[in-house]
Amino acid sequence: MTRKIVIIGGVGGGATVAAQLRREDAESEIIVLDKGSHIAFSNCGMPYHIGGLVKNRDDILYSTEQFRKKYKVTVHTNTEVKAINRSTQRIYYQAALDAGELGFDKLILAPGASAIIPNIEGLNPQRTFPLHTISDMDNISDFIETKKPQSVAIVGAGFVGLEMVENLRERGLKCTIIDRSSQAIKIIDEDLAAIVENHLNDKGVQILLDDGLASCSNDGKTLHLNSGRKVEADLIIMAVGIKPNTELAIDADLKIGTTGAIAVNEYMQTSDPNIYALGDVVEAPDTVTGTPRHVALAWPAHRQAYIIARHLTGATASFNGTQGSAILKVFDLTVGATGLIAIN
Ligand SMILES: Cc1cc2nc3c(=O)[nH]c(=O)nc-3n(C[C@H](O)[C@H](O)[C@H](O)COP(=O)(O)OP(=O)(O)OC[C@H]3O[C@@H](n4cnc5c(N)ncnc54)[C@H](O)[C@@H]3O)c2cc1C
Repeated sequence: MTRKIVIIGGVGGGATVAAQLRREDAESEIIVLDKGSHIAFSNCGMPYHIGGLVKNRDDILYSTEQFRKKYKVTVHTNTEVKAINRSTQRIYYQAALDAGELGFDKLILAPGASAIIPNIEGLNPQRTFPLHTISDMDNISDFIETKKPQSVAIVGAGFVGLEMVENLRERGLKCTIIDRSSQAIKIIDEDLAAIVENHLNDKGVQILLDDGLASCSNDGKTLHLNSGRKVEADLIIMAVGIKPNTELAIDADLKIGTTGAIAVNEYMQTSDPNIYALGDVVEAPDTVTGTPRHVALAWPAHRQAYIIARHLTGATASFNGTQGSAILKVFDLTVGATGLIAIN
């Protein structure tokens, strides 16, 4: 009998698991549902489209029609899964024009994470944007085109924040980056972070550390920091982190781990063996310490997709953990990190 495999989320983890699975299994019916309008796009390319390096927007997108044909997969975009019923093995979705339900033999959760927007008094959503989805990217590009901002404050000096600084400098904006910790890029050592911070200064970026955004005024253009400092900015990029999209899993009573992400075994099965999960929504053991860690990067999602495809087709490859290896370009520097840092 043909199996029905339903995948929730169709980008980093979801599209990859669909493609990997089809390579191993020509028979199963594979159905991907994504609440966004695009699947299999390159999140990593978004800052560079905003900066103008990737001129053609289509270069970071993958045609849904092509994906359907190439992998013989059914894809429903603009379709949000609202609930999972484990006992009847059905999911319930809401699409633009209709609502419906689908049965599954195996379910794969790849709903990723959402950008955190802190509840800050006076923040104006018309000029404050995260960068997590294609619509976020389009909103930022449209704002730059139509409102012609001269200055930007980037809140958060992590990977996305720093990529945005470089790309918005490229667009000619005066950049200020704000972070409440004492260094940029928390996952590297302090002395290396100092090199990055000096380089940002050399490139004309103001970097304010040990300081957080307390409130905004003046139509969201004046940022008041915890220290009492004020920053003026026409545009704010909120890059303070993400939280895993665990609502469906929590409602379905699947086990959530100590980091707040979904707990899975080495084959990426959740506490229900018919339901797998991968990518930004799961935690995995750290390779060094073995303790659960939430690492939101493309490599673990891709590797986990392979593990799930293998497991669903009878093989026993397992996911043994993550080191969080990552690499980042900051203007003329390349910053790499792997493993853990010592915290004093
Ligand atoms: C700006 C940016 C730059 C990045 N750069 C890098 C990089 O250089 N290197 C790197 O390794 N990683 C990078 N990442 C991280 C990487 O993109 C993610 O780790 C990876 O995409 C995770 O895959 P995922 O499938 O878990 O989540 P996603 O790729 O985010 O996909 C989740 C999908 O699920 C959909 N969804 C959510 N809930 C539902 C629901 N209820 N019903 C239907 N659909 C739903 C969402 O619409 C989304 O399309 C970057 C991320 C961003 C935002």
